[in-house]
Amino acid sequence: MRIDVVTIFPTFFDVLEVSLLGKAREKGLLDVRVHDLRDATTDRHRTVDDTPYGGGAGMVMKPEPWGHVLDGIADASDAAETDPVFVFPSPAGERFTQATAREMAHEQHVIFGCGRYEGIDERVFAYAATRGRVRLVSLGDYVLNGGEVAAMAMIEAIGRLVPGVVGNPASLVEESHEDGLLEYPSYTKPASWRGYDVPEVLLSGNHGRIAQWRHDQQVERTRERRPDLLAD
Ligand code: SAM
Repeated sequence: MRIDVVTIFPTFFDVLEVSLLGKAREKGLLDVRVHDLRDATTDRHRTVDDTPYGGGAGMVMKPEPWGHVLDGIADASDAAETDPVFVFPSPAGERFTQATAREMAHEQHVIFGCGRYEGIDERVFAYAATRGRVRLVSLGDYVLNGGEVAAMAMIEAIGRLVPGVVGNPASLVEESHEDGLLEYPSYTKPASWRGYDVPEVLLSGNHGRIAQWRHDQQVERTRERRPDLLAD
């Protein structure tokens, strides 16, 4: 899977060199390329923002550098056949969920455009739609300073679903949100620690009872912590 990221803070993504995603990059399962939006500017100050039409606080990201850098990515010979999807992190976008991550893990080519300031000139989204599919995606109902943290979270959630990235695929199945419920509680050795005991059923060796207990715990936890998921 190829992932391009456009940002004014490329070093944010250095962290993609470590852990499972770093290994996936080494193995060639993920091809991540980070682009500095300022490299697509033409003025001495490498300006990427300007004041908003209509007035108001803050600055807006100018369309020209975006057009230039998105064209560069979409025109690249190895991108021509991949039908890219442009993902612009935005608090005003659709909600990013495990289902979104699963969908995107099937894509061949995802391009993240990280906004800053008050966001990106709206025309950039219309233009990107002429070069591929466009999704504005929100990490949650709060406002971050920029799209980098959101893109990082999405890349990790998507990347770990790409076949081969997580060693044991079974561990992806029994996770929170995979079946619409939160995951059951997990324990490891020792069986007793500082007066807290592992639930007896998990020591019983009775797989049927364990499966039933885990399912009951999932439902109970979800009812307590995320009743909205049960309603869905
Ligand atoms: N003025 C924008 C609004 O009210 O919708 C917020 C701009 S925010 C300060 C700057 C950038 O951070 C956005 O362009 C977006 O890329 C990113 N961002 C902020 N909150 C986000 C969220 N919840 N999910 C995804 N991206 C977010």
